[in-house]
Amino acid sequence: MYVVDEDKIIKTMNYNFSKFINIVNIVILILASGCNQSGTKESKNAVGNSSYLKNVPPQPGEDTWQFIEELKSPMWTQHKWEKADPGPQQADLSKGVTIKESFPDPNGRLETAYADLRSFLAAGGISSDNGSYVIITKEVKNLKNESFRIDIKADGCYIFAGDVDGIRRGIFHLEDEMLRLRSPLLPLGTIEKNPVIKRRISRCFFGPIKRPPKMKDELMDDVNYYPEQYLNRLAHEGVNGLWLTVEFRDLVATTYTPEAGKDAEKRLTKLRRTVESCLRYGIRTYIFCIEPRAWNPDSPVVKNYPELAGAPRGKGNFFCPMSQTAHKYLYESVNKIFKAVPDLGGMINITHGERGTTCLSAVSAISDYKGKINCPRCSDKEPWEILHASLSAMEQGMHDAAPDAELISWLYMPQPQRFVTGDSYALGEWVYDLPAHTPEGVILQFNFESGVNRTEFGKLLVGGDYWISNPGPSSRFERIAKIARESGTTVSAKIQTGNSHEVATTPYVPVPSLLYRKFDAMRRLGVSHSMLCWYFGNYPGLMNKAAGLLSMEPFPADEHTFLKQLASIDWKKGDESSVVEAWEYFSDGYENYPLTNMFQYYGPMHDGPVWPLLLKPVDAQLSPSWQIGSSITLKAWPPSGDRVGECIGEILTLEETVELTGRITSSWEKGVDLLKGIEQNYMDEPERISDIGVAKALGIQFRSGHNILHFYHLREKMLRMEGKERLDILDKLTDIIYDELELDEQLLALCDNDSRLGFHSEAEGYKYFPEKIRWRMDQLRSVLANDVPELKKIIRNDELLFPEYTGIRPEGAVAYSIGLKDVELPGSDSILPVGLQWQKCTFGPERNEIKWASEWDKEALYIWMSDSTGSDQNASLPSITNIRIKIEAQRLHPCRHFVYNIGNEQTVDDIIIFDNEPGVCYVRVRIPYDKIGVTADNLHPVRIDVRVQNRDGETNSWRPNNPTTPRLMLGSDNPADLGWLVFYGK
Ligand SMILES: [Zn+2]
Repeated sequence: MYVVDEDKIIKTMNYNFSKFINIVNIVILILASGCNQSGTKESKNAVGNSSYLKNVPPQPGEDTWQFIEELKSPMWTQHKWEKADPGPQQADLSKGVTIKESFPDPNGRLETAYADLRSFLAAGGISSDNGSYVIITKEVKNLKNESFRIDIKADGCYIFAGDVDGIRRGIFHLEDEMLRLRSPLLPLGTIEKNPVIKRRISRCFFGPIKRPPKMKDELMDDVNYYPEQYLNRLAHEGVNGLWLTVEFRDLVATTYTPEAGKDAEKRLTKLRRTVESCLRYGIRTYIFCIEPRAWNPDSPVVKNYPELAGAPRGKGNFFCPMSQTAHKYLYESVNKIFKAVPDLGGMINITHGERGTTCLSAVSAISDYKGKINCPRCSDKEPWEILHASLSAMEQGMHDAAPDAELISWLYMPQPQRFVTGDSYALGEWVYDLPAHTPEGVILQFNFESGVNRTEFGKLLVGGDYWISNPGPSSRFERIAKIARESGTTVSAKIQTGNSHEVATTPYVPVPSLLYRKFDAMRRLGVSHSMLCWYFGNYPGLMNKAAGLLSMEPFPADEHTFLKQLASIDWKKGDESSVVEAWEYFSDGYENYPLTNMFQYYGPMHDGPVWPLLLKPVDAQLSPSWQIGSSITLKAWPPSGDRVGECIGEILTLEETVELTGRITSSWEKGVDLLKGIEQNYMDEPERISDIGVAKALGIQFRSGHNILHFYHLREKMLRMEGKERLDILDKLTDIIYDELELDEQLLALCDNDSRLGFHSEAEGYKYFPEKIRWRMDQLRSVLANDVPELKKIIRNDELLFPEYTGIRPEGAVAYSIGLKDVELPGSDSILPVGLQWQKCTFGPERNEIKWASEWDKEALYIWMSDSTGSDQNASLPSITNIRIKIEAQRLHPCRHFVYNIGNEQTVDDIIIFDNEPGVCYVRVRIPYDKIGVTADNLHPVRIDVRVQNRDGETNSWRPNNPTTPRLMLGSDNPADLGWLVFYGK
């Protein structure tokens, strides 16, 4: 039963008596009326009311993915060309063209490119049947790897290249030149281009991700994820590789894994078909995998070949690559795949970082490796030797079957995903040994931005993986690339192109300046390959196109020059400067994106327009931005609630995040205004109207994200105030709700014209869609109709707003921390401080007598634990073995966890163990305020739970434990599982 140990209070209370006795009475009074043992319902009032979640519309079916039809539709239908009026330095193609296909092309790889040129010309009303202007393709052997030279004369032009892909690039370049002039004209002279970023690997926008909840394998169904005109669009943008997910065990059986490869033939057949379709557009197919997979505990392979079992991993083992068996298994797996599909472009393999693979997976990228690899073969090896063993075997297997295929070894080291001030986020020094010891013939891929940092409000912010707003490179990428260059290892940069986890619900984010900065650095660092995207950020359009252009030499002299070149392809001459200026506003704003992965993963930028606005506190969690359903429960996540602290991390405050998002939105809207100013010039060019629509939708999303954060910042402020001034804030909150209704209305209109809006490729569906926007508008109207008047009334009556929520008048379980003030801290041999108010940890085994209490001084909070059950005076270890204290310093923010493993040392850092009473073990821990996130001069009530584990492994806690569905980095903490801690004696 709950909670106050009156016995203990009376026994130890000998200071500040008169004040303290009052508090004890209050506590007992509250307990008598407000305690609820189950812990599932803390309060009977409006806090926690989730009735707003009724009638959330279900996810639309895949038949609504209209954009697939758009991707399939012909790329060229009708150019809006002006009448050809050639200048003195221009060739005129308006009288028709003859295409002489002189380049040797035995495999017909150029058929689609020639056909495309013909349909391009036809869309401009130009015949390519015996016209007077001759376009000739011709082989020049010293041009290599997509390099091309175009020689344009008045009566004809040559496209020279050394391979079919160079001719393809040359043809597309001619088309760009005509698009620029908006007529069938070409500039006289010679143009030569060479790829610097030779490989540009993207991914299908709508292909299954082979992860739960859908868990669909694109090689197992009959859907064509690579329709002709989709590939044609990608090819025009310079994409020359696509990746798709496989596992060895799906594709092949080996001598060692005879039971694997159940549907291998079906998968390989589809893979061959995909490879062939893509090659017709100059696009290679790369299989993406995370191999060799660590072994499951029950794997028969490990029983038969124990040398394959490496360092322990849970109940199973990592894959040990150090034996001949391992070498043969890896060789055979890769060799069989590349023999079965000989034209595969290569394989991108996450060698370290994402899931368990080799014995090196026992070491985190940010730690030292010594003593961490508990494998009989690997424990005395250098980390690079372990990767060298697995990569060499795969490399040999691949190149014996397919000499031109590429093995890209991706070191996925995204840390820090949740940076906290003072944390070290440096990679282990062993990582920097890897580039120099990458086997010959293996390309090393590294995250371009992980570890990128910037300072805001005087605070250091550090990002993990996938950033466009902070374009990188991180200093660790620079260092890896330099070492690789010195040792002759080819480097691939993993970047995001169209969009990123920052906002992935529009087909792209129009910030080409930021892409320019990425490619400028890639060039400087000698990078030759790039994986352009994860599951998202790959839709054809502006950013892909920009990446394609930036991959070629000559490189534009500066950012502004590049933007002008880019704008000139699609926009009218007179509008170029407006478009460029708009893009610059977009980038300037976007750079303010809060640099914390928490904001990407849980923030409102993806789908703020369908977040409810909760005027009354509910304490409802945020949902992951990249998912529609949980990969664990497979159920849909609810719309995100009011716990906005979950998305801002531990460094920025909510107020600062409001400021940063405000900067994004005000700059973005200036750009949108410029585009609106030219919109009427493109009424018959739907692609440009869609481009403007994308910019508008992002403007709405950013404004909405900013509004949401601002709303909760104001709400929290209002709830802690008294008096009529609260009406002014309520007015501001009301204004935000009206603004959001207006934004929703605008977004609905945009969604009607563009099925891409709201779609998130990794979520495999829509984060927002018209029905859900309407649902949200109903929620907003309901707040205006019901909640606003209700709060107005409370304010007019001079009552407090939700004092049980703010802690001004806490309800439910309440504990008191006693101020130490002038009392001397006890040393390790002194008695317990007086006045402690003990709380029983009643959740857990009944027989345990575990209690906790708290005191505070001007620097720290102290938590005392006592265990008086089963204590054995002769035991060498204290009976308390582990303590976990969760503290929610501020409402709506995640709890910080303070975990202590208790050894037999009497004093370790902030832990002191006492055994000064027979049969009772006391442990006291000290938690400095800066670690909690509070300050001594503002000690407001906080929410807390204390969990104590004893020597028998049993856990007792003060509050119940009803974990929620686990969320990445936020875990399964349930905010309802907390009680109050009130600082007494301030
Ligand atoms: Zn090993």
